Amino acid sequence: MRRLLLIGTGGTIAATSADASRLTDYQVTQGIQAMLAAIPGASALADIRCEQPFNTDSKALRTTQVLQLARRVQQAVRDPDIDGVVITHGTDSLEETAFLLHLTIASPKPVVLTGAMRPASAPSADGPLNLINALLAARDSASAGRGVLIVMNDGILAARQAAKGHTTRVDAFGHDGLGVLGSVCDGQVRYRQRLDPLAVPAFSLTGLRSLPAVDIIHDYQDAPAHVYLAAIQAGVRGIVVAGMGNGSLSPAAERGCAQAIRRGLICIRASRVPRGSVTAKAADTDTGLLAAQDLNPLQARIALRLALAHNWDRDAIQALLQRL
Ligand code: ASP
Repeated sequence: MRRLLLIGTGGTIAATSADASRLTDYQVTQGIQAMLAAIPGASALADIRCEQPFNTDSKALRTTQVLQLARRVQQAVRDPDIDGVVITHGTDSLEETAFLLHLTIASPKPVVLTGAMRPASAPSADGPLNLINALLAARDSASAGRGVLIVMNDGILAARQAAKGHTTRVDAFGHDGLGVLGSVCDGQVRYRQRLDPLAVPAFSLTGLRSLPAVDIIHDYQDAPAHVYLAAIQAGVRGIVVAGMGNGSLSPAAERGCAQAIRRGLICIRASRVPRGSVTAKAADTDTGLLAAQDLNPLQARIALRLALAHNWDRDAIQALLQRL
C-alpha cells in the first residue's frame, strides 16, 4: 500500500456554514483527520498519515506559514517512508502556495494540492471528491516526476500553470493555454500530456524564515504615481507591475518604476492580461525593468521574493524569469 502524508491547512474544503444553502459564507471548522474519516472509503485508498500545521482561510495565510509548509513537504519527499504528499488548501491563494512549492521542491514523488469551492455543509460539496481524486493522483505511479500538481474538479493541473479563474464555480481553476495535464475520473488517473518540472529546485529553503516584501501594482489608464512612492517609502525590495498588454506601462508606472530602480529596487513588468508572455524589449536595457516572461504577476512576485531572499542580482533574476 502506498504511504501518503495528508496535510490539512484549511480553506473551504474544511469549512461549514450553519445554513446549508450558503456557498460563500462559512467558517473553517474541520480538522483533516475528521474530514478524511467522513468520506466513505477515502482512508482505505492508501496508508495515510494526517498532519495539521494550521487550519485557516487561505486569504489570511502568512509567508511564515507557507515556508513552514514547504519545509515540511521537503522533509516528507526526502523521507523513504512517504511515497507522496497531498495538501488541502483554501482556493483563494492555493496557486501562490503551489507556485512557491514548484520553485522550491524538486522530487519525483507526487505533491498534490486540492481544495474546494463549496463548503462541506453544501448539498453538493466538491471537497470530498476533490480529496479522493487528489489521494488517487498522489498514490498513482503515473504522477511521479510531474512536479507539484493541483487536482480540482476532476482535472490535474501543473502548479506551474494553474490560476484561479472563476470566483465561485467548481471549475474555478484554469491554466495558461496548455490545458489540464490529465484527469481523475471514476477512480482512474489518466495523463494526456506532460510539462517537465524543474530538475532541481530554483531556490533552496535552507535558512528561509521570511521573504522580502514585494508589491504588485495594478496599472490602468491614467494611473496615479503615489502608489509607487508609497511602496518605495514602505521599504519594499521590489515591485511587480500588472501592466497592460505585453507589459506596457502607463506614464505614472514608468516614472514610478524609474524612481524605484534608482533606489535599488527590482521592478518587473508583468501583465494584467491572463494569457500570454511579457517579452523583453530593447528599452528594458535602458530602464532597468525586467520582463516577467511567462509568469503572471502573482508568480513573478513569488519568484522575485525568493530571488531577493537569496541576494540574486538583476541579471540572475532576468535569467531565471526566462527559464521558468
Ligand atoms: N476563502 C477560502 C480560502 O481560500 C476559499 C476557498 O477555499 O475556496 O480559504
